[in-house]
Amino acid sequence: MDNLKRMIRTVPDFPKPGIQFYDITTLLKEPYGLRTTIDRLTEFVDRPIDTVVGIEARGFIFAPALAYRLGAGFVPVRKPRKLPAETESVSYSLEYGTDTLEIHRDAVGEGHRVLIADDLLATGGTAKAVVDLVERLGGTVAGLAFVVELNFLKGRERLGDYKISSLLQYDE
Ligand code: AMP
Repeated sequence: MDNLKRMIRTVPDFPKPGIQFYDITTLLKEPYGLRTTIDRLTEFVDRPIDTVVGIEARGFIFAPALAYRLGAGFVPVRKPRKLPAETESVSYSLEYGTDTLEIHRDAVGEGHRVLIADDLLATGGTAKAVVDLVERLGGTVAGLAFVVELNFLKGRERLGDYKISSLLQYDE
């Protein structure tokens, strides 16, 4: 995986001082990087998957490609007031304040096997909120897939007993 890691750019102090930002655009722009990322992420998945849920915004880059490869559908989880029909929403705490995410109520069927996808797992707060949304709609979370995992923020522990796969892990 080191060849993929080399394609990820880290940007210090973005979007604010003290944050090291893991920029996946440099991975995506390389044909080899994009293809290998999607291929490897699909290898870890327990099939069958009915639906891949992508988290706005960078999850939207990966989730449809994974869904296509898995023969599944794609469902967006969005920031508030973006989805036009009836929604289920969840609020979760950030370092400062709270954030809210929404999903269409009819987007996930009872008992459907769902894969949740995002670019990066940090503290796990975002992913945990999406797990709650999917389960409220009756879906079964069959797994969570991330390109990057920041081990030191312990998102995996926060998420608990789900099948979590990440391609590139960072220890500091
Ligand atoms: P968390 O809820 O703490 O796991 O944060 C995960 C979400 O925030 C993902 O949607 C990421 O895109 C974004 N994110 C958090 N930390 C970083 C980081 N250091 N670099 C890039 N994206 C990040």
